[in-house]
Amino acid sequence: MKRNAFSVIMATNKENAIWKEAVEAETSTFKQNKGRRKAPFYKVLQGMPIAVDAFRYGKIPGVTAYFLTHAHSDHYTNLSSKWANGLIYCSQETADLIIHVLNVDPKWVKPLQNDVPTTIPSTGGVRVTVIEANHCPGSSIFLFEGLQTANAGDGSFTSPFIGSSRTFRYLHCGDFRASPRHVLHPAIKGKNLNHVYLDTTYLDPKYTFPPQPQVIAACAELAQRLSTLYSHSKGPGNDVQASTVSCTGVAPKSLGKTLVVIGSVSTLLPERWTYSVGKERVVGAVAKRLGAKVYCDARKAGVLRCQSDPELIAMLTSDPREACVHIVPLSLISAERLKGYADSWRDTFTRVVGLRPTGWTFSPPSGAGLVTDISSMLTKAQHRQFTWQDLRQMKGSNVNLQVYAVPYSEHSSFFELTCFALSVEWEKMIATVNIGSEASRAKMNRWFDCWKKEKAKRNEHIVQYRDIDYW
Ligand SMILES: [Zn+2]
Repeated sequence: MKRNAFSVIMATNKENAIWKEAVEAETSTFKQNKGRRKAPFYKVLQGMPIAVDAFRYGKIPGVTAYFLTHAHSDHYTNLSSKWANGLIYCSQETADLIIHVLNVDPKWVKPLQNDVPTTIPSTGGVRVTVIEANHCPGSSIFLFEGLQTANAGDGSFTSPFIGSSRTFRYLHCGDFRASPRHVLHPAIKGKNLNHVYLDTTYLDPKYTFPPQPQVIAACAELAQRLSTLYSHSKGPGNDVQASTVSCTGVAPKSLGKTLVVIGSVSTLLPERWTYSVGKERVVGAVAKRLGAKVYCDARKAGVLRCQSDPELIAMLTSDPREACVHIVPLSLISAERLKGYADSWRDTFTRVVGLRPTGWTFSPPSGAGLVTDISSMLTKAQHRQFTWQDLRQMKGSNVNLQVYAVPYSEHSSFFELTCFALSVEWEKMIATVNIGSEASRAKMNRWFDCWKKEKAKRNEHIVQYRDIDYW
């Protein structure tokens, strides 16, 4: 094994001590640290005065640049109109969102152009490349390149590489859904990555779910079939007649129209509205296939308008009766709760189809979770296909109100994490999710070791993929 910064600081006997300190920092109270929570080591890049998704720690000692991967609340915690601790770097869409929704003063927000390496001021010359994360609109992964010039942060470790002439490369993945596009990106392909900060949300073989583009296509296909003339007794099978009753179509009056309701926005909290970005791809694909308008409340529409999706923005309408696709809070999408919603539009829509996109409630195929060897797991996963026929109706559905669970994830599956790890050159993986317990960290470390060994065995540098957008 190469002697590198991390093998020095993370020698097994030290690793747990460093994580222990990080967990203590994360759970520390304001009182213990004079009104400020301490930032754990993985929030500040080693040897660089840069923090990522670290807004809940106030002004972190030595940090001169704050990066935000995306506008999900667990990543921007504490970011508000009161922020005054330093410049925030992020994608243009994320910048628009935090200014529009969180009222962050624009003078602190520095949007960066995707895919163009940019030198960040006051960081000792660190260059960053912003790359689309394939998570939610505006989400990014960051590739940082530069020298180690400062021991910033609250950790007690000091890097031995400060002042050395060695260039370090860190890939921060925030939240992402790994795809071949990432590993083929010119900033990543063939480059030696010293640290990869990995979105380990689903780093467990039990998390097998279909590629997102297949799921999106399945939703669009299902919505179209259910909006099409068919015999009620037979359901939306292959025997569907071809004549479509779309929003704009000419269905016989007696059959009426179908409303597709898609869960996306979060619910309202008593004091502060929590907005949500994500799931837009399902909405866009379904509406496009149906040739339909999209309705959502004014606040969600405001959020959508911050996003660079002109096609979706053009489909928006403020008239719910004009739209065959509605975006509603995810919590509303159950047969029981959707009934009331369906009733309120009965004068216009005779049938309601609910789509509940969520990454958490799928049931994995039997046998998933048992990985005896990585190669056969990859082959098996690459042969799985997902079509509209795999979408399952939820409990309580009937002919006029059908609710479907959609296995839609905006994080990488275990299979995708494995493909990603086998396709990039890395020295050290740093988990950023499920890190609270020693047992969970040890379990993830075993997979990192497994990937290292498998990578050493393989001839191919990039795991063969089915499509540029998924393995
Ligand atoms: Zn997220």
